[in-house]
Amino acid sequence: MEVLTADVADLTLSRACVACGDIGSVLCLACEVSLIRVHRHEIRRWETLPSHQQAGARPVVVASTYDGAAKRVIIAHKEHGVLGLTPVLGSMLAVSIAALGEGPFAVVPIPPHRDAIRRRGIDTLGAIADRATGELRAAGWCAHVVPALCRRADGGRHVGRSAQERSAAVQGTMAIDARVISRLAPGAGLIVVDDVVTTGATVWEAVRTLRASGLAVEGIAAVAGTERPAAPGRVN
Ligand SMILES: [Zn+2]
Repeated sequence: MEVLTADVADLTLSRACVACGDIGSVLCLACEVSLIRVHRHEIRRWETLPSHQQAGARPVVVASTYDGAAKRVIIAHKEHGVLGLTPVLGSMLAVSIAALGEGPFAVVPIPPHRDAIRRRGIDTLGAIADRATGELRAAGWCAHVVPALCRRADGGRHVGRSAQERSAAVQGTMAIDARVISRLAPGAGLIVVDDVVTTGATVWEAVRTLRASGLAVEGIAAVAGTERPAAPGRVN
């Protein structure tokens, strides 16, 4: 009966594109193409984390600016559980990762907040990272997800916080999962991945935590990033 109810709901509630509102599917072909084709040429590379200019900061690559269709697709996936959007987000993340070098890529996702898993029932970034590394392997790269980080404490949600407040809130919130690290190939360069990079506070805390355990981080890749005042360089 429950299955029947779900089927009827699918038939009677029209699906609309989360980016432009066109009726038909959760993401129409035009919006999908704009995200994975057009933005392929707009990969931005920040030479250092914008808010952390420390020596040795790593490059940050994002596949798109966090606005328009990219922003609506990320929010629909993360906050409203539209999991049909995982493939397009995975493709975007794969493009960012590939811009960081030749690999092999040991991809470390930012660990989810515990309440987020409870609320959504799924680690949405983990799903995007799985999809991205699968696409990279299919294209001939060596890429695997290495869930090396876990949450030690919850720094709370960042919305409405300044860069400084975010930085302070995330300090000490992540820890290394020693079982995962023990399986890492010696000398493997890690890539930290997130869905959206804003101030860089969260990804920097991940880099700091990994480095504190003697691990080398090659760079940071994300699906999207907020616009920076400084003009970003471009890579193809
Ligand atoms: Zn659309």
